[in-house]
Amino acid sequence: MTDEERLARAVAPLLEWFSANKRDLPWRKCRTPYSALVAEFMLQQTRVEAVKARYVAFLRQFPTAEALAAADEDEVFKCWEGLGYYTRARNLHRAAKRIACEGFPATWVGVKSLPGVGDYTAGAVCSIALGLKEPAVDGNVLRILTRLLADPSNIDDLAVKRRFRAMLAAVYPENCADFCEGLMELGALVCVPNGAPTCGACPWVTLCKAHEEGKETAFPVRLPKRERRVVDATVLVLSCGDKFALEKRKKGLLSGLFGFPFFEGEMDPAQFGKVMDCRRAKHVFTHVEWHMTGYLVEASEMSCDYLWKTAAEIEASCAIPSAFNAFKQWIEK
Ligand code: SF4
Repeated sequence: MTDEERLARAVAPLLEWFSANKRDLPWRKCRTPYSALVAEFMLQQTRVEAVKARYVAFLRQFPTAEALAAADEDEVFKCWEGLGYYTRARNLHRAAKRIACEGFPATWVGVKSLPGVGDYTAGAVCSIALGLKEPAVDGNVLRILTRLLADPSNIDDLAVKRRFRAMLAAVYPENCADFCEGLMELGALVCVPNGAPTCGACPWVTLCKAHEEGKETAFPVRLPKRERRVVDATVLVLSCGDKFALEKRKKGLLSGLFGFPFFEGEMDPAQFGKVMDCRRAKHVFTHVEWHMTGYLVEASEMSCDYLWKTAAEIEASCAIPSAFNAFKQWIEK
């Protein structure tokens, strides 16, 4: 059997399995192109469980693209708090402004041209909310397809992704929303990334070449990961009376977001006041690791280099990224 034939035969069992086994997720209840876009932005790099509650709260606060477009960026960040990767929130906000002016795009190219939308998100929104036969291929989908076909290609190679996209497009059924979501769901529930996939529960068990050969976990094949750059940094939690110093980060990671005063390398915290406590913390981004030493410092005056806010004001209106969680505990006491 050719790969194309195997893939074509996989469509019907997947649709049947999805209809019987799909999870009851909030973004599957009532879907508009805008709500599908919000869900896909949130689901990029974030686990389904973490997205569920944030999605409902976000849609309650910003039920339409127009409502989101009219919001202030800090308000959007606040509502995004806990999801991390704030660039997504900024891009979604920019996309909403475009949609509010021009309407929701009607084609893959139009959706892809929105800020922060890549091939995968464009495919997912088109398939799920616009009824267009546009495959969405991410690491999950590549994993299950390379297993189905026992394909040893390196899935980090863009040409491989394009080839799978074209193969899927050739077999896309009319019910493209369920097919797109079925592929994702199979990767999330059955043909899982770590450990052994539960082939006994898989609709492709009699079709899957990797299973036939007993080599399920040999796929997907990928290149070793790039090492992360380590940045040593000093973080200051400066207090003065009942207020704490914040800065709005101007560049680099987490730019545009509030954070505690941050300095690359080591520095002497005593020049800012009386050092009350010290702790170390690490935060891992995709390509960079911050190794931070944090100091709680009682400052004698409120330097005008910073914004000074009470713990309650910070809680109410400033989204502090999770990178600073270890130090945020000092102001929550
Ligand atoms: S049979 Fe097993 S390896 Fe093959 S697609 Fe299903 S779960 Fe994955």
